[in-house]
Amino acid sequence: MSNMNRRDFLKTGTAALGTTILAEAASNLLPNGGAIANAAGPAPEYEIYAAKYGGTLVRNAAIALWNTGWNEEGQINFYVWAIKAKDGSVTLVDTGPSPELGAARKIPNYVNPIDVVARIGATASSVNRVIITHMHYDHVGNIARYLTAFPNAKFYLQKREFDFCVKDPVCERKPIVAVFDPPSNKVIAGLERSDRLVMVDGDFSIAPGLDLVLAPGHTLGMQVVRVNTAKGPAIVGSDLAHVFRGYKEDIPSVYIMNLPDWIRSFDKVKAMAPLEYIFPGHDVLMSSNYPTVAESVTRLV
Ligand SMILES: [Zn+2]
Repeated sequence: MSNMNRRDFLKTGTAALGTTILAEAASNLLPNGGAIANAAGPAPEYEIYAAKYGGTLVRNAAIALWNTGWNEEGQINFYVWAIKAKDGSVTLVDTGPSPELGAARKIPNYVNPIDVVARIGATASSVNRVIITHMHYDHVGNIARYLTAFPNAKFYLQKREFDFCVKDPVCERKPIVAVFDPPSNKVIAGLERSDRLVMVDGDFSIAPGLDLVLAPGHTLGMQVVRVNTAKGPAIVGSDLAHVFRGYKEDIPSVYIMNLPDWIRSFDKVKAMAPLEYIFPGHDVLMSSNYPTVAESVTRLV
């Protein structure tokens, strides 16, 4: 399917949307890629929650919006996300950092993300999946505790993110390792042949209405999550943009691994959902502009 056709097709509705991604995912499945979901009938609807585990951090605005506002202050928060199904089962997105990392990196007002998501019922019995969008320390640095806290969960990660962080010595070089966490990389490495880890290579449908979308640029194997909601398709975009303005103005953060790829990922993801339902990684507005359902937890859609 050409890009243009694909874009038009994606706009035709969520049931069709699920079918599209499945057709593509089938060719992208790894041997351990898990079962292909049954796409018959309309996709179920999920709710998306943002769980703030740290912040607010004030720093230069240009960090979140590349080359913009070197003389301005900007604010960010730190989040993980929860995607709730109607039956109460929960897919978590990212782990946040461990308490030790939170302290070492001086994240203000840090609370273990496990304790924050528990406030909306994300517990050992309800969490069946954890999606890792990318392996920066503030997104995967709590992986060891998550493996224990959510014993029934399978963890989803892009193969190219795994390969870079686990197998490429360039990942250990100073400017790169500064935003990763080598001990967490080791934990992930140890899962390579475990049935806890589902290694994905490209776009992949986890279940009807719940799709992983490869979106490199911020890291080499960045992925975002496309979710069918009562409002239609929405994207848990993690750090594909740090703030809403990034999507609106086509500006990435300063943490760039491949800028042309990043721009192409913007195009790809923006074609999948309305701008107002594409959620960034660190915007303080996710805390202030949406209904609060528990302490530090808001319902985005
Ligand atoms: Zn990041």
